[in-house]
Amino acid sequence: MNLKDLQNDWINEFSKPLIIAGPCSAESEAQMMETAQRLKDSGAEVPVFRAGIWKPRTKPNGFEGVGVIGLNWLKKVKDEFGFKTATEVANAHHVYAALEADVDILWIGARSTVNPFTVQEIAVALKGTNKPVLVKNPVNPDLALWIGALERLLGQDVKNLGVIHRGFSSYQKTKYRNLPNWQIALDFKHQFPNIPMFVDPSHICGRRDLLSDVTQEAFNVGYEGAMIESHCNPDAAWSDAAQQITPEVLAEMLGNLQIRNSDISGFDEEMGKHRALISDIDFQLIELLSNRMKISEKIGALKKENNIAIFQPDRWKVIAEYASARAEESGMGKDFIEKVFKAIHEESIEVQNNIMIDK
Ligand code: PEP
Ligand code: MN
Repeated sequence: MNLKDLQNDWINEFSKPLIIAGPCSAESEAQMMETAQRLKDSGAEVPVFRAGIWKPRTKPNGFEGVGVIGLNWLKKVKDEFGFKTATEVANAHHVYAALEADVDILWIGARSTVNPFTVQEIAVALKGTNKPVLVKNPVNPDLALWIGALERLLGQDVKNLGVIHRGFSSYQKTKYRNLPNWQIALDFKHQFPNIPMFVDPSHICGRRDLLSDVTQEAFNVGYEGAMIESHCNPDAAWSDAAQQITPEVLAEMLGNLQIRNSDISGFDEEMGKHRALISDIDFQLIELLSNRMKISEKIGALKKENNIAIFQPDRWKVIAEYASARAEESGMGKDFIEKVFKAIHEESIEVQNNIMIDK
């Protein structure tokens, strides 16, 4: 059996997009029940309630999850409100406990997907289960590693699968906590159109104000669902406070999203994909330009130290020449590239000028 042959009918039990919501971490029975009650009352269409029981934290000595007692609270949420439940498993012991407590959907976190030994251990513990297992992307943008994790699960006859795009770590400071990479996600979707893809805007954004745009972007390119962190008192959350929203805010956000159903014309879908890719590239362009300007500042400082004129005509000649040669090679107009590079060069000179005059 091959990943491409899987039908993944499990998702058809739900209406699309499938929203999984709930707190980052289970903290207390009261917090779980209040969040579940308010999710229900908010009218948001959320069939699956999530909560982390074992939490992979960046630093030691923080809150590392309530452990197995949280499984009882998930069970209570299921029994009293009718939600399906979901939690993260990160080793065989977690798997046995979660299966024993009849959690409906399990997911493998980004910090586990990255480690083949861990994924293998989890896969073996899950052997033959019919429960859907969702695999978050590894923290690094490595499509083969992500696919490899699914292959390990399939190797143990785990056939109800899905993936979650939660963004990728980057050392650079950006507006996102974990940079989304729509290209990798779309490459995945292209290869495995039958494997449902979820967006996790909470861990991509790390902050509330970006959640809606990122979720919309994912729905525009045909994601099947979203996993969104929601807490009854987000500011007081024991983990990931800045990215969690109340059930009521979640309901409002979901209500404002344009949900595309599967019968939209191919044109719209195609357009959405192109736009997402363009946003990706624009974002990269801005990062690159900003890095270029930082280097310019260093050059400015060097010129100042050595008392050298800012504008070096020979250097501009070299830049203009290679830019127009590359433009021709890539089939773009020389005039256009010349304009772009002139603008960049002018800004660079301005940056250096400010350094010279000690602004
Ligand atoms: C989570 O979903 O709370 C979590 C820990 O996410 P990730 O694996 O994406 O870091
Ligand atoms: Mn979290």
